[in-house]
Amino acid sequence: KIGRKFFVGGNWKCNGTVDEVKKIVNLLNGAADIPPKDKVDVVISPPFVFLSQVKSSLRPDLSVAAQNAWVQKGGAFTGEISAEMLVNLGIPWVILGHSERRLLLKESNEFVADKVAYALSQGIKVIACIGETLEQRESGQALKIIAEQAKAIAAKVSDWNNVVLAYEPVWAIGTGKVATPAQAQEVHADLRKWLKTNVSPKVAESARIIYGGSVSGANCVELAGQPDVDGFLVGGASLKPEFTDIIKAGL
Ligand code: PEP
Repeated sequence: KIGRKFFVGGNWKCNGTVDEVKKIVNLLNGAADIPPKDKVDVVISPPFVFLSQVKSSLRPDLSVAAQNAWVQKGGAFTGEISAEMLVNLGIPWVILGHSERRLLLKESNEFVADKVAYALSQGIKVIACIGETLEQRESGQALKIIAEQAKAIAAKVSDWNNVVLAYEPVWAIGTGKVATPAQAQEVHADLRKWLKTNVSPKVAESARIIYGGSVSGANCVELAGQPDVDGFLVGGASLKPEFTDIIKAGL
């Protein structure tokens, strides 16, 4: 994993109140055992309405991400948040293509890819999520589906320095049914091979591929030990004290 710094994202999804946000931020700010920034990238993703609160109160060695951004320049798009607004607020990262948006809000591979390209064009770094459903896995299509999702993104990305790929099997998200380390490693290795053939050997070597899906304090160390697992995108457990254990899992 030489050259690929461990990366841990905390996706709070649609959760939190002002008081709960304060509590989580205080917990992270008080955690003495979070490794320094040159060892691990930690990116917290609260809902839009709490971004300013988190950004202004969170310790400076931890970073902040939005959970979505509009696909083009802002304007007459009621209810949307533009990349320009995130830039204006100083939000460095955005999560795009999360399966909850792909499935519930019908975001297509192309729409996600356009969002990735637009966010990058505005200087925002992207956590781009891909992953198969249970049905797709059981019918032997997992790798094909993941390659299609990656292909759509790769077609619109020229600079991979600011992209982290998150492999999140849908059947493992919020279910407590975590992929085994071998299952995660298999897909991550395959994705890296795909990048080598379809993007470049250099990108394949340097791009971080993180795993998401029921990561917890109990399973993170074994997953982090896999050679192609470069970190995690954490949902449920990112709201709990065990998140700091997950942050340390790669060391
Ligand atoms: C996620 O929301 O990206 C996620 C992986 O959720 P959970 O950890 O709760 O499965």
